[in-house]
Amino acid sequence: MSFSEISIGHPSIIQKLQSFILHQSFPNALLFYGCSGSGKSFFAHHFIEEVLCQKPVSGHACLQCKSCQLRGAEYHPDRMVVEPDDKQSIKIDTIREMQNFCALKPVYADKKWILIEEAHQLTIESSQALLKNLEEPNSSSRFILTTHHLEGLLPTIRSRCSLIPFYAYSDEEMEQLLSQKTDDMVLVRELAMITKGNSKLAFQLLNPENRLQYENQISLFFEVGDHLYEKLPVKTKDEIIQLLHCWENALLDLIKYGLNKNKSLYKSGAWLIKKFQPASSIQMDKVLWLQQQLIQYEKNLQRSNPYLPSFTQCLLSDIYWAFH
Ligand SMILES: [Zn+2]
Repeated sequence: MSFSEISIGHPSIIQKLQSFILHQSFPNALLFYGCSGSGKSFFAHHFIEEVLCQKPVSGHACLQCKSCQLRGAEYHPDRMVVEPDDKQSIKIDTIREMQNFCALKPVYADKKWILIEEAHQLTIESSQALLKNLEEPNSSSRFILTTHHLEGLLPTIRSRCSLIPFYAYSDEEMEQLLSQKTDDMVLVRELAMITKGNSKLAFQLLNPENRLQYENQISLFFEVGDHLYEKLPVKTKDEIIQLLHCWENALLDLIKYGLNKNKSLYKSGAWLIKKFQPASSIQMDKVLWLQQQLIQYEKNLQRSNPYLPSFTQCLLSDIYWAFH
């Protein structure tokens, strides 16, 4: 089975990637970018598996050659996956290791494939080292970079890649993805709506413990003003970004709830929606304003490293203002 058969959504991307395979002609570097959970990593992994096939049939993996037999194994000698250390940064040592990997000849395939996940986490030094590889179009290595933060990459890196934009999954696509994992269709519909096309978040929320944690974060948001600062369970920049995501989503749901109070899913009072009922009296213009503010806060946090206690105080004041 090929990745185009197991994939949901992104038909034009599938078409493009299939055409690379059919013609056996690959850009030196592809850059998959788009919001979190939009399928970038899934597509990259499966595309590489398919490309590594030694005897593709009509652009699909043959499932019989040595490479295909190695498919799914943790290790394939012609594939390397680079990820940030401790989710913080991709350091120069990792890029040097990758360069040693590139210097070796491919074992089974024509080319070696390097997947660099969360490429915005490359340090300046790592980016400059990687540039040397990206500037060698005739090398036997090919690269796929993924990022949800395109502006976080050096312009010189971006300009050497073929850009492939990934858009968020639609609610219908999310329902298809989720119904492969559970039969609980009320939960599927609710998660599809709450997670706004973020499959990573939706899959996490299939776990009841994660749902409880998410629910607590939402509750915290509506409790603002009541010593929230002391209660905030965040310590790092990443934790604040994650919380901002959760709250931006909550506000979108609140907008939807305001507009769709009578629709069946809301009436059914499924899991999270009931959390919004007490908050539905907040003025809609304030909700819209706050939603924009949170997006702005998140952008600022992505771009810079503010002093977090002051940053959080400003954020909480804005939320307090909107809710009172
Ligand atoms: Zn094969």
